Amino acid sequence: MKHYDVLVIGGGIAGISAAKALDGLKVLLVEKSDRLGGILNQCLHRGFGKDMTGPEYISGILSDFPENINVALKTAVTDITPQKTATLRHENSTEEISFSELILATGCMERPTGHMLIAGSRPEGVYTAGQVQEMINIHGIIPPSPAVILGSGDIGLIVAKHLFENNVEVTIVEIKDQLGGLARNRMWLEGYDVKIMINTTVKKILGEESINGVVLTDGTHIPAKTLIAATGLIPDREILKYKNYPFEIHICGNCKEVFPMVEGVARDAERAANAAIENIRRNNDR
Ligand SMILES: Cc1cc2nc3c(=O)[nH]c(=O)nc-3n(C[C@H](O)[C@H](O)[C@H](O)COP(=O)(O)OP(=O)(O)OC[C@H]3O[C@@H](n4cnc5c(N)ncnc54)[C@H](O)[C@@H]3O)c2cc1C
Repeated sequence: MKHYDVLVIGGGIAGISAAKALDGLKVLLVEKSDRLGGILNQCLHRGFGKDMTGPEYISGILSDFPENINVALKTAVTDITPQKTATLRHENSTEEISFSELILATGCMERPTGHMLIAGSRPEGVYTAGQVQEMINIHGIIPPSPAVILGSGDIGLIVAKHLFENNVEVTIVEIKDQLGGLARNRMWLEGYDVKIMINTTVKKILGEESINGVVLTDGTHIPAKTLIAATGLIPDREILKYKNYPFEIHICGNCKEVFPMVEGVARDAERAANAAIENIRRNNDR
């Protein structure tokens, strides 16, 4: 069984930043998709670092990525045991490895559309905001107009902008009395013809096979061919299946808490890497 000083799970900014800070140790960085960068690969808007797009920011971060760090792409970690071993599922094989320190950088996940507390079935045309962002930015598919976005956090506002710029009529529905998200993401709405409904939410989805509208709690009927749930992100720690692990797990980035800005993610990952280095040093001193 191969042994690594540090296993880093997740190749987004958190995992990449942690691995870079571990240079000199025997590190394995595991990413289940076919490239590093995580969520930033689908973020084509500007706003990362000095006004870069997500992919531009990633290529900057990767430009000085140490060559001696082992990277396993298209590989999912499917189990972590209390004995400090991990199961890696490669495309065509499975492998067990052992590690001294573990850094968890698995990001966050969206609340699935099934979790929306809305009456009615889930006909075609109901998506999460991340799904729509991937449809537009990676696959070039524009969902049909008009669209209703439920929730006004950053991801909802960014998707509203993508849709509006692609000639989709957009209504944002927010249950609170004001929009959420960063000020800079709210600001662009001022120049755009996006309808905003606050203090209300979607109570019913209309349509049999495909969605044709929604009904709000105040009875307003809004025609819609697309409904997008932007109802929040939750840290993804599903890999931790056992109740107790008898060792410290260094959790960083969006799988620790949902960070609005990339710089915070990188700093948090460096903190996790330093904690792992400190444990290794302490164990070597014993
Ligand atoms: C829509 C959106 C827009 C944003 N816009 C901005 C912005 O404009 N400016 C800014 O500064 N910040 C922005 N952020 C915030 C921030 O930059 C990101 O949230 C941050 O990059 C998250 O990094 P991460 O590494 O923690 O997670 P992720 O990027 O999600 O990376 C996690 C990685 O772990 C992998 N993974 C998960 N489980 C496993 C497993 N079991 N095995 C192997 N791999 C696994 C995933 O495939 C993924 O690649 C935005 C965030 C979102 C969601």
